[in-house]
Amino acid sequence: MIQNPIPWPNGARCACAITFDMDADSLIHIARPGDSHDRLYPVSMGRYGPTVAMPRILETYRRLGLKQSFFVPGWCLDTYPETIEAILAGGHEIGHHGWIHEDPVITRGAAQAEAFERALDAHRRHCGGTPAGYRAPVYNVTQQVIDLLIEHGFRYDSSLMADDIPYEMRTADGALWEMPVHWGTDDWPPFAHYDEIGYMMPVRGPSAGLAGFWEEFEAQYEAGGFFMLVAHPFLTGRLARWRQVERWLETTLETRDVWFAPLREIADHLDGLKRDGFDPRVETLPYYDGPQS
Ligand SMILES: [Zn+2]
Repeated sequence: MIQNPIPWPNGARCACAITFDMDADSLIHIARPGDSHDRLYPVSMGRYGPTVAMPRILETYRRLGLKQSFFVPGWCLDTYPETIEAILAGGHEIGHHGWIHEDPVITRGAAQAEAFERALDAHRRHCGGTPAGYRAPVYNVTQQVIDLLIEHGFRYDSSLMADDIPYEMRTADGALWEMPVHWGTDDWPPFAHYDEIGYMMPVRGPSAGLAGFWEEFEAQYEAGGFFMLVAHPFLTGRLARWRQVERWLETTLETRDVWFAPLREIADHLDGLKRDGFDPRVETLPYYDGPQS
């Protein structure tokens, strides 16, 4: 059961989004800046995303008529411009995902503001405008970032976990929609194995690794909720895994009453509902004004 369910367009039972964070090899450059350029294995693992997985993913979306959301660090916009062009040509959304995947909890203050603006500049150059949405690298949003999002007119964040379905976040200066994430619908735990950045996980087989996501979908579908997958091209875009996602998409589109949309369209829908009197659940920020003890 979901309190205060959101009515979806055309009476759809569940809103769905398969979102991808196209981090590519930014992860190794931020983790090992001194010598990452000469660590060819992690660079190649990251490059697989924009060069091999993305054409595969975009072709599936084209065939099935889907428009979806991608979160891309600014450094990746500059490094993989052809992939960015292909994403935009497919009518998809590209959201802000930091400059070079810096963690906002570590990069605070002036350095965070500078990285944020540098990424915004890359978005303006490659995507023709300011993005509507943001997802924090490793979900680590800080109040400073929320304030930057509001200052720059962003419409939504997608990094936090306070509900099952989209909710509103309000500060003294404005409001954002939150498109909530959680670790049960993120492909990092089942599929990432990345010693250089501290992950030594047993990689699961495609069906076993994806099975939990589909259970999450079933629960959201039954409740009339919101199902969002947070995936990475170099993980879920691998051949055997994407084959399974593709089959799930085909079956779901054929047999279920679902609304697949980019997150900015979900934000548009929520804005419309609010204008018509819908009362979303609200989280007021900042949560705390200082250390708690
Ligand atoms: Zn990321």
